[in-house]
Order: sequence, then C-alpha cells, then structure tokens
Amino acid sequence: MTCIRELQQPGTAYTPAPLIQQILHLICYRKGDPADAHELLIALINDISGPISQIFQGQMASTIQCSHCNKTTIETDNTQDISLHIEADSSTSLAEKLYIFFQPETLEGENAYWCDACQESCRATKTLSYTHIPTILIVHLKRLILGKKIQNHIPFDMVLEMEPYLAPGQASLQKMKLIGIISHQGTKDQGHYVAITSRGNEWTSYNDAITAQTTLTQLHQTQAYIMIYRKVEHSDVTEIDAPRDSTIANQQLPAKKSKPSHKT
Ligand SMILES: [Zn+2]
Repeated sequence: MTCIRELQQPGTAYTPAPLIQQILHLICYRKGDPADAHELLIALINDISGPISQIFQGQMASTIQCSHCNKTTIETDNTQDISLHIEADSSTSLAEKLYIFFQPETLEGENAYWCDACQESCRATKTLSYTHIPTILIVHLKRLILGKKIQNHIPFDMVLEMEPYLAPGQASLQKMKLIGIISHQGTKDQGHYVAITSRGNEWTSYNDAITAQTTLTQLHQTQAYIMIYRKVEHSDVTEIDAPRDSTIANQQLPAKKSKPSHKT
C-alpha cells in the first residue's frame, strides 16, 4: 500500500485523490455496501507509516493476576483506539464508560485464565492500563452492534482525565482535549457520516460539501460515533480552563459532569 508521503510531489501541495483511490482497497469496499468510518480510520492508520501513524499509536498493558497463586503476568500491546460498549438503556457519560473500561475484569468459567504456575484454569483478574497514551486518542462508541444500531445520546466531556488509567510508574498529569467528532446519521444498513472538528475554540461541521460553524450546544447534542481527543500540552491547559476571545466563551457551557465515583 502507498504511504501518504509517497503520494506527495516534492514542493507541491498534497492532493488527496490518489489516497482516496487507495481507500476502497484498504477496506475491501464494494460500491453500495455500508462502509464503517471506524474500520476505515483504523485501516488507514495501520496502512500509513511514519510520523502521521505514530501520533495514533498507544501502548497498553494487560495485567492478569491469578486468584489462586497470585502470580501476576503483564503483557503489553500497541493500540490505536479504545472501543467502548454502549447500552441501549443507559445515559452514562463517556468518562464513566472509560472508567468502566479500565476496571479489573474477572476471568472465570469459560473465560478462566490458564495459569502456568498452577498448571490449571484459574479464576483471575485482568486490568488494562496505558503504558503510553497516544498523542491522538480515538474513542469508538460501539453503536453498530448485533445487527442493530444503538441511538442513545452519550454525554461527553471536552477534556478527559487519563491519569487514573496510566500503568504504575508512568508520568502523571495526562489530559486529552476533544478535537473532533464523527457522527453517524441513519440506521445500521444505511446512513451518513458528518465530521465536526475544532480549530482553536471554533467548531466546524463537514457534511459532504456543506461546512457550517457549530456552537458548543450543537456539539454536545451530537450523537457521536467516533470521538477524537488530543493530548494536552502544558501551554494548552489555560486554554481549556478559560476559553478566551471567542463566541464559545460567551455560550452557556453544559453542566460539568462530576467525576465518575470510584468503586472500592
Ligand atoms: Zn496460579
């Protein structure tokens, strides 16, 4: 597959046409079939190489502890995204779903863990944590699942606190700022994608050939399918805490959700 940089002639602007032609092959797309934006995004990230790909690359540790002998095994894996389950009858926020995603999972019954030390299938706990948070984090909300589409609105925060999800010993103070949303309008069989991205404090929606300014209120009403967050640099922190000289600063900000309560 062609690297994006190879498509660019030296000294010229990048023209997207050759890349768009490659996309059909990347996802084995047949005209008329429903295409999935998440599948395409991950295929693109895996296909392109170099600095563009690296900003999406994160690394997660999976820590498994055997309940019988307490032996702990840690495996690390590269990740490009987080896929979160959403329930049809719940309105828990994105931050709460993220919190649940990183909670210890019990492996038992059919999912029991084969412990090398015990030499048998044992009950165990599995906990995921970030050993490297990507510069750009893709959060995928599993709306299209089991042959249907979940239409629930998922409340979300503009800033994600990632510190609780870091593996022990990793640097603290990790915040991610929302920079883009891809929404899916329609059913599981047919629909339409709209992208909303930020530039500074302004938000713009891209709906085919139509672009429009988007208010924060409209942004928060979006039925997000993919959310894109960017790691916050120190210089960005004040920008998040106090938006300045923008129409957004004068708009009513949605009530801030309290932090997900930690279970003990
Ligand atoms: Zn064991």
